[in-house]
Amino acid sequence: MSSVILVTGGTGLVGKAIQYVIENEPEGSRFGRRPDEKWIFASSSDADLRDPQQTRKLYEKYQPTHVIHLAALVGGLFRNMKYKLTFLRENILINDNVLHAAYELRTQKLISCLSTCVFPDKVEYPLTELNIHNGPPHESNFGYAHAKRMVDVHNHAYKEQFGCNFTSSIPTNVFGPHDNYDLEDAHVIPALVHKCYLAKKNNTPFVVAGSGKPLRQFIYSRDLAKLFIWQLREYDDVEPVILSVGEDEEVSIKEVADAIVKAVGFKGSYTFDTSRADGQFRKPASNKKLLSLIGDFKFTPFEEALGESVKWFLENYDNARI
Ligand code: NDP
Repeated sequence: MSSVILVTGGTGLVGKAIQYVIENEPEGSRFGRRPDEKWIFASSSDADLRDPQQTRKLYEKYQPTHVIHLAALVGGLFRNMKYKLTFLRENILINDNVLHAAYELRTQKLISCLSTCVFPDKVEYPLTELNIHNGPPHESNFGYAHAKRMVDVHNHAYKEQFGCNFTSSIPTNVFGPHDNYDLEDAHVIPALVHKCYLAKKNNTPFVVAGSGKPLRQFIYSRDLAKLFIWQLREYDDVEPVILSVGEDEEVSIKEVADAIVKAVGFKGSYTFDTSRADGQFRKPASNKKLLSLIGDFKFTPFEEALGESVKWFLENYDNARI
């Protein structure tokens, strides 16, 4: 084996999607497994990455030549607002341990995963890779956002002091099979899928919080997985890349809810609770840098991706994170 690729957070939404793509794309193709590669998908039971010794042991065990670092304490808005210090500390610990072990054990390349929450609250749109540090992030999740921002600072420092090939990616909202469907803590798509499923099962109304008008960019986890594989194989620069569909592919929350109603097969009463806050109307991110580098890439149409995700949820309800 000439490459050993360790995926931290390999059991989460994005990690499972990378595993799916590696196992299902034709071997030797742009995104498929290559004969000289060994892929390791690690979970928190392989190592608690908040702990430096456990992190080092994981690296010593697998001797990765490459790392895709996805592991993070991830949560919805409510938990982010309530546990700001926990999100700050745990993510800083995880990131510091993963990056430092990669440096000490001579990992050839490491890609860490940021999020569009890292961007300043008051910023020019569309978001671009150039304005991550130009002002404080939104106060609702400043703990998580600052911890993620620091990865970019770390990457530059490791490169300048030691010449490390560390970089990062910035995905927009991700959805797909193996998402977190917990009603209290899920992101908007899995939360609405779960709510709609329960409305159908219990014959109750499906009520969507807010007006349905805000626009968001959603990326299908299996498309994102391909972009990570591209970045691993074809992108060698410390500066982050936004991994997203285009600004012209924003969808409204109403379009999301309509697609969910269709995919779940819900026929009951379906309304919007306009007394609930909408959040920001739109916060578009530019994927120009990505498209200029990757060349030809086809994103899965939103409805098709949503249909596959809902199908997965319905077939795996008993084992899903709910
Ligand atoms: P998930 O919550 O689905 O998965 C989190 C993963 O991290 C799991 O594999 C989990 O392991 C692992 N993990 C958590 N804590 C630890 C720890 N202390 N030690 C070791 N492993 C740990 O996350 P996603 O797949 O959604 O997110 C992956 C990355 O993408 C994250 O960095 C996140 O910030 C980023 N991101 C996600 C977005 C989204 O919409 N979901 C949007 C933008 C960025 P276990 O299964 O054992 O608990």
